[in-house]
Amino acid sequence: MSELNKVMVEKYRNDFLKEVEANVEEGNWVKMCMQCGVCSGSCPFGPYWEHPPQELFMMIRAGKREEVLASESMWMCTSCYNCIVRCPRELPITHIMHGLANYAHRLGIAPKMNPTRRFAKLFWENIIKGGRVNELKLSIGLYFMDGFSNGVKKGLEMLPVGLGMFKTGRLNPFGLLSGGKCKGAGDIHKMLKKAKEIENRRKGFAP
Ligand code: SF4
Ligand code: SF4
Repeated sequence: MSELNKVMVEKYRNDFLKEVEANVEEGNWVKMCMQCGVCSGSCPFGPYWEHPPQELFMMIRAGKREEVLASESMWMCTSCYNCIVRCPRELPITHIMHGLANYAHRLGIAPKMNPTRRFAKLFWENIIKGGRVNELKLSIGLYFMDGFSNGVKKGLEMLPVGLGMFKTGRLNPFGLLSGGKCKGAGDIHKMLKKAKEIENRRKGFAP
């Protein structure tokens, strides 16, 4: 088993806080949390969180590695910034939540069926192809991600909306299907490839 895989399956790690500080965007702020609970109380998702931000930060400090990284919670953050403006310690909570989600995804621990993760993946794959989002292909991908019959059902449900947009000139399916690439999409691919190489080197991941 490689060193990285050994790290991946560990349920608890005493130095998990250090791991977060080294690998998660703004993770070095977690130790500043004083557990006042203002962020959790201010979050519009308050009643629906499995682990609100305050609890996640406590779990990180307690070394609950697997429970944190496999959690659905950070994927629910809508970037409303309520928590950030209210935190008495000025923690960049939103960025930490997205950073944790990104780190879990990179390690392959993130919940596979989480809808936000699946949408983010579709969106990313769509936008990097042509340098801009092809809305039609993105919508088709979303409708059919749970199978063909579900896709047809969702498509029929949304048909009146699509027709309305088409009539008012807000949707051009022919233009979207045939192209939608921005100028210099190849250069964007090169930049992303380079950025990934640098990121992997910095974090110690295999290219
Ligand atoms: S509001 Fe800030 S200090 Fe209070 S629990 Fe949340 S992150 Fe910690
Ligand atoms: S930014 Fe995210 S964590 Fe903060 S209050 Fe909004 S939804 Fe909750």
